[in-house]
Amino acid sequence: MNDCLPTESGLWQYVESTIRQVVASYGYQEIRTPIVESTDLFKRSIGEVTDIVEKEMYTFEDRNSDSLSLRPEGTACVVRAGNEHGLLYNQQQRLWYMGQMFRHERPQKGRYRQFHQFGVEVFGLAGPDIDAEVILLSARLWKKFGISQNVTLEINSLGSADARVSYKKQLVAFLKTRESELDEDSLRRLKTNPLRVLDSKNPQVQNAVKDAPKLIDCLDEESAKHFQGLCERLDNLGIQYRVNPALVRGLDYYNRTVFEWVTESLGSQGTVCAGGRYDGLVEQLGGKATQGVGFAMGLERLVLMLQTLDLDKNIVSVVDIYVTAMDESVELYARQVSETLRDAVPQIKLMNHCGGGNFKKQMKRADQSGASIAFIIGQDEMASQQVAIKYLREKQPQETISLNELTHFTQKLFNV
Ligand code: ATP
Ligand code: MG
Repeated sequence: MNDCLPTESGLWQYVESTIRQVVASYGYQEIRTPIVESTDLFKRSIGEVTDIVEKEMYTFEDRNSDSLSLRPEGTACVVRAGNEHGLLYNQQQRLWYMGQMFRHERPQKGRYRQFHQFGVEVFGLAGPDIDAEVILLSARLWKKFGISQNVTLEINSLGSADARVSYKKQLVAFLKTRESELDEDSLRRLKTNPLRVLDSKNPQVQNAVKDAPKLIDCLDEESAKHFQGLCERLDNLGIQYRVNPALVRGLDYYNRTVFEWVTESLGSQGTVCAGGRYDGLVEQLGGKATQGVGFAMGLERLVLMLQTLDLDKNIVSVVDIYVTAMDESVELYARQVSETLRDAVPQIKLMNHCGGGNFKKQMKRADQSGASIAFIIGQDEMASQQVAIKYLREKQPQETISLNELTHFTQKLFNV
């Protein structure tokens, strides 16, 4: 589990605010649910024989001996809340959430025990138009972050539950012929959840299943039409994708559309966003049948990708202007000037020097703050109602401007 230190929180805030802006631009509404839920919720939704439920959940008994778990993902929580508050049946909802998730996994780059997901969940819409929309929304985020070139979209269809039953028989028959090449996990899944063998990360298993019959060739007619509808929309919108017949997703509740955005910039933890359709989940969790589709994005992996880019310093800067006060007699003047500027330019990032000290010391602090400009305020400046402006990062001569001009000067700096 990670601390988010001041050196990183700027980037995190930038990620979060960009996400908020993009979801708002599609008319999605935020939902916040508790971090702890009844363990049973995840068993019933994610599936008993999935990695998450079998070995990754933080589960404990509370004082009433109820079994609770820290949430390992968001979808089940949103469906639980939606059912509980009557948000889902016979309605359309386009929701999003962002927050901590917990899984007891082996920590490594891009894989942590507490991590953050941003996700969207849409309810009450059956067609491929909404599948295309949630993919489009995720694609817009890559564009906003300037990483469209670093991610690729993979899609597949899992068809209907019925079609999967007959496919499973074919798959099991095939896997039995390769039993000697499967690892212990896959042998177990062969009995409990054979589709998940296709999801194995073990290269030897991947090789063994590469010629397995493909689910996408066994789709029921409706699902095939749905998938074709999605592909057409993505084509028309210029969203490139690869159909990956081995994409089955680790969670039990998906049907029809599944997709992942993957990257090569993060080593083996290559999936930054994953989702799909889960038309049966609402009913499975006790609500009236309602279609659902959504995705979850791993924010640590997104942040790792952004850290490799040379982001505009302005995006993540903490301080843009550092205001000095050369002795105690000008402290009040420097404060008043600063407060006026905070009134005039709400997005300003301005830090006032505190703690006294000579010119050299104050300029050292100004430099450490990361600011690009220092306002130098001494007795002369106060007497003439001026401020001296020193550029800390560019070769530009120092200038002195009057208080009247200062607001305008600062507004221009921030494009107000
Ligand atoms: P993986 O195959 O990498 O284990 P998953 O299929 O378990 O992923 P999901 O449950 O689909 O992952 O979660 C959606 C996204 O959340 C993932 O694509 C990933 O970006 C992120 N994620 C999942 N588990 C972790 C983790 N332990 N640490 C950091 N991010 C994670
Ligand atoms: Mg996992």
